[in-house]
Amino acid sequence: MSSLTYIPIENERVIAQHQEYILTNYRLIQFDRGSRTSVSIPLHIIKEYKLTPNSAMFKVTNGIVNVVGAMPKREELRGALGLREFASLTVGGQRKLCEVSGVPFVHPDHPYNQWISVGYHRPFSQHFYRTFAWLKDEEVFTYFPDSFILTNYRLYQFDGKTRKLFIFPLYMIETFEARQNQLKVKATSGKFDIRGKVPRQDHLITVWQQRAWSHLPHEHLDWLVRPINYVVPHHPLSQYAISETSSVRTTHTVTETSHEIESKAGNGGAGTVFVKPVIKNRCDNCGAPMSWEDIDWVGPDQYKCPSCRTPHRVEYTRM
Ligand SMILES: [Zn+2]
Repeated sequence: MSSLTYIPIENERVIAQHQEYILTNYRLIQFDRGSRTSVSIPLHIIKEYKLTPNSAMFKVTNGIVNVVGAMPKREELRGALGLREFASLTVGGQRKLCEVSGVPFVHPDHPYNQWISVGYHRPFSQHFYRTFAWLKDEEVFTYFPDSFILTNYRLYQFDGKTRKLFIFPLYMIETFEARQNQLKVKATSGKFDIRGKVPRQDHLITVWQQRAWSHLPHEHLDWLVRPINYVVPHHPLSQYAISETSSVRTTHTVTETSHEIESKAGNGGAGTVFVKPVIKNRCDNCGAPMSWEDIDWVGPDQYKCPSCRTPHRVEYTRM
């Protein structure tokens, strides 16, 4: 049976309630059948989400939360997010909300923090999220359960041949070639030949082309391969004195993603898999390069080439 842990904070009020969830003006408290725990997600950290009646994926500031269970209705969640009452929370209010929710408090000035690790994760992902630091603006681009996590900064990869775990900071990668169950990488640190489930070549190209790491201060690049218990004493977050009464700007608006997700809740072996929308790297009519930034949307899953205006359909790739 489900059990929800709910400790209200000041000015918090319940908007919708069910045996497996409580939705307030500040957060969603949800029973996750995958981990058999009560998961609390402050609304202000949600950037993107996908909701089905029995599962959800939330992309939050510092990671991804997967939950399996009886979810709120779309209108209920949309309504709570639309109220934006969380936007008036001060730094102290946000911190308290995160503390009672058991999730890391991330201030926009923090250069790193912990990954969020609530909800359902397989041991492979859980190990990564608990061992390494999340760096400012790091986002999970795609992952495959038990095999890899590709973020906009690094690739965390299991090699089936040597049964070893690798972290490839993308800035150290010079060339790469992914083909079915093989990934060849030439990095500044050497050559690697990985076997097993590896990211797709076009996904690697996309994150590598974004060069998101170029916004990181040079001395923070080293943190990509360091465990968080190394980073914290060398660069304590306490040096960022932030007034508890100051306001925090919310820089994003929450969007409901068009990603497909598929979830199964089973006898302890629950897994959540979601599918990524993919666009072509080049227009097959005129050959012009296409990116998420410069295509024009002409339908929920149709876009036009910015050069010749030929329409293309988004493809969904199951991870
Ligand atoms: Zn074209």
